[in-house]
Amino acid sequence: MPESHLKFHSANGKRRILVIEDEFINREILGYMLRDSYDLIFAETGAKALELLEEQQDTLSLVLLDLNLPDMKGMDILRRVKSEDVNAQLPVIVMTADQDAEVECLNLGAIDFIPKPYPKQEVILARVLRTIELFEDRDIIRWTERDHLTGLYNQQYFFRYAAQFDTFHSAVQTDAIVLDINHFHLLNERYGRHFGDEVLKCVAAQLLNMVHGSDGIVCRRGADSFLIYCPHRTDYEDILEQASVEMAGGYQVRVRMGVYPQVDRSIDVERRFDRAKQAADQVKNSFSKEVGFYDNAMYEKELRMEQLLEGFQTAVREKQFTVYYQPKFDVRGAESVLNSAEALVRWKHPTLGMISPGDFIPLFEDNGLIRELDFYVWKEAAAQIREWKDTLGRSIPVSVNVSRVDLFDLELPETLEGIVKAAGLEPGDLLLEITESAYTENPEIVNVIKSLRDRGFPIEMDDFGTGYSSLNMITTLPIDALKLDMQFIRTAFRGNKDTRLLEAVIGLAKSLELPTIAEGVETEEQMLTLKTMGCDFVQGYYFSRPLPAAEFEAYVRNLEQPGRKL
Ligand code: C2E
Ligand code: CA
Ligand code: CA
Repeated sequence: MPESHLKFHSANGKRRILVIEDEFINREILGYMLRDSYDLIFAETGAKALELLEEQQDTLSLVLLDLNLPDMKGMDILRRVKSEDVNAQLPVIVMTADQDAEVECLNLGAIDFIPKPYPKQEVILARVLRTIELFEDRDIIRWTERDHLTGLYNQQYFFRYAAQFDTFHSAVQTDAIVLDINHFHLLNERYGRHFGDEVLKCVAAQLLNMVHGSDGIVCRRGADSFLIYCPHRTDYEDILEQASVEMAGGYQVRVRMGVYPQVDRSIDVERRFDRAKQAADQVKNSFSKEVGFYDNAMYEKELRMEQLLEGFQTAVREKQFTVYYQPKFDVRGAESVLNSAEALVRWKHPTLGMISPGDFIPLFEDNGLIRELDFYVWKEAAAQIREWKDTLGRSIPVSVNVSRVDLFDLELPETLEGIVKAAGLEPGDLLLEITESAYTENPEIVNVIKSLRDRGFPIEMDDFGTGYSSLNMITTLPIDALKLDMQFIRTAFRGNKDTRLLEAVIGLAKSLELPTIAEGVETEEQMLTLKTMGCDFVQGYYFSRPLPAAEFEAYVRNLEQPGRKL
């Protein structure tokens, strides 16, 4: 165990003791005996003592309490300390000449006594030290703050300790660092868990060694991720090098780091490490760079995200979200026929202008706001289907996007049914697009999708090709159509055109009797090629961009004019 990292120490490297003592001479004696080893603060009255206890609660390691004070009884202070949540764990040593008071003090929670007149310095130092150590150990057990494998702090305790570090080193610039081992899961699979454990232990030891002497602290968060909080430094390459240990047998461990240097202490500790993590993600797939830094661009992005989050409720209230519609055409026959539309949300932000869903959907998925937004879009889409039924005299089914986050809601089928009913529609009028990756995320999700399909909602698997489901597996999943990811089209029609993969996928889907939809189709060449390959439906700029409802309606009316061909 890295003992030196357990202690709470003040800026000068010492633990802090509050001495509550009204007599000048006693304060002088104690000061003389303890000053070299501890950081002392004094209270001459009970009132001052309570004030300091409140103000210094995070920094105190021990209280030395005189029972006779001018304004209060020492006993009452003891009682107060032990009854408050924040200070109940703070050890108190009572200083008294009155042996009869000892039992009462013990009952009130005092840990030890120092008699008056004072014993020899060694005795006092020993008692003080023993008490502090005892309490720090107890504190540690209470928090079960260590990772058993590496002996490092776990995250919860680490964050708490980092906050304490700030209190003690208020003038020191600090860095937040996230460090990961490259391809750790592969290493585990290939060489076994035991070897993986050895690697973690070695890296942990290296990191501890590195911050040693600087009061820095280290923790292991999750499998192969380490957090470091330490006084600002610039030798990050050295850290990288030292953590890249060579194991027995010659295996070279490789690590990568994200650094948020000279942290802003006005944001909470967790967020500082989020920033370091963002920096680490920047170099995740880089071959040449192993250290990433949190920079201004990331900060700007974070501000923008914050702005979007803060604006969400107003946006819903003020109807800044608008639904656009993009047509999907049935291309199986000689002429392309309008089949349905996809509802795609847009944000008309009062200051940022038009924002595309790619910028805010992932953000809202992270914090669950997406559920509210999708609910809104579904309702809008249902109302629109209803309106077109009435005004155009025909039914245009609309597909809506269902985020993976929505699927964790067990009431989703009822919710969607309610929306459809309220608009006087059938479930068959509202198609649901669910991304392939949602299917593979969690087996429970597949059941929710099944139940949606059982109720009559047609299901389209979106972005097919980006997840990991095999075509084999697809036969067992609840799906009515396969929507090929746009990337298939992009790749197939790149410079040296190669459409073999595209053709194979469409062919396989056909053999499984699953209709295919191609999206992102921009040119006539693409459309015709897909048609020849047997693709059933096509969506893309070739036919139309996503349009506001009124424009979409005009588009449809125009299609219906006699003599017009697509
Ligand atoms: P997606 O579901 O894959 O939607 C297709 C995206 O491709 C849309 O982007 C669409 O505007 C764009 N697109 C259509 N045709 C073409 C084309 O010919 N060329 C190119 N380059 N792009 C084309 P958009 O509207 O920016 O939406 C992005 C993504 O945001 C969507 O991808 C979908 O995953 C998500 N999204 C949009 N609206 C919603 C919503 O209401 N709820 C949820 N959960 N997600 C939504
Ligand atoms: Ca979609
Ligand atoms: Ca898609």
